[in-house]
Amino acid sequence: MASYDLVCDACGKEFEVYRQGFLKDEDRVCPECGSADVRQKFSSFLKNIGARSSGAGCAVPSGSPFG
Ligand SMILES: [Zn+2]
Repeated sequence: MASYDLVCDACGKEFEVYRQGFLKDEDRVCPECGSADVRQKFSSFLKNIGARSSGAGCAVPSGSPFG
């Protein structure tokens, strides 16, 4: 079961949808105002990735044959 963070562009309502597999069109409807102007939030997802890659900005492979 995957959870999707969605936000309604019409009223700004943020809500979560739990769905097995991918989101369907019927999931992209705001529970608050019924608008289909709903988009998926990726910010929390990206935040999780960013938290893991802390430290040096550039990765230099050690033992390069072109060293
Ligand atoms: Zn709405």
